Amino acid sequence: MSELDLIAFDADDTLWHNLIHFDAAQKQFGQMFSNYVPEAQAIATLEKTESHNIKTYGFGVKSFTLSMIETAIKISGGGVDAHTITKLLEMGRDMLDHDIELLPHVEDTLKALQGDYKLLLITKGDLHHQERKVLASGLAHYFEGVEIVSDKKPETYHRIAKRHASTTAQMLMAGNSIRSDVLPMIAAGGIGVYVPFEMIWDHEHEEVPADTERFYEVKDLNGIVDLVRGIKG
Ligand SMILES: [Mg+2]
Repeated sequence: MSELDLIAFDADDTLWHNLIHFDAAQKQFGQMFSNYVPEAQAIATLEKTESHNIKTYGFGVKSFTLSMIETAIKISGGGVDAHTITKLLEMGRDMLDHDIELLPHVEDTLKALQGDYKLLLITKGDLHHQERKVLASGLAHYFEGVEIVSDKKPETYHRIAKRHASTTAQMLMAGNSIRSDVLPMIAAGGIGVYVPFEMIWDHEHEEVPADTERFYEVKDLNGIVDLVRGIKG
């Protein structure tokens, strides 16, 4: 294959914590509506609403906030009061304002790769919020480009590689989602690296094609440094 020159990273739960905030908000939601339905049922209804709404609203906190409100109306049979809706809006706002907590080895890894490769950040979600998170992370200077996309498909990776004067055959994408970060990158002809996160949201490990030489799994982000040195030979 052509020589690797572009290394791309997912952001949420690859470079910094994200799911912990959604998880905490879901639990709080469950407690808030436990006078209507059992907590687990409230959370399950919220999750169902969320995945239905992604098609319309996309990913991110604003979409999640609308889903909380919609679910609250549903669960309460229309009886939810303005005070409770205000509380849900506040929960959403807190999620947008939280501090960025980097995951282990993030800075070391980017420092080690910078200079030898063009580094990119590719993330799904709400443009405004993701831009703020990139700024707040203090990592922006490591990246030649920050790509905030609505979906991660093989065409997305082709388009991004082209924009950075490269091809997907020279590209590696590392992330915590097999479905978004790894499989479409491999399908596009590049290298997909799975960096597992302890709170697994959409774990589809078994879907990794066994016959591909372009799939790798590393224990943490730092594993990528040895990996690319190995690929270079
Ligand atoms: Mg992620």
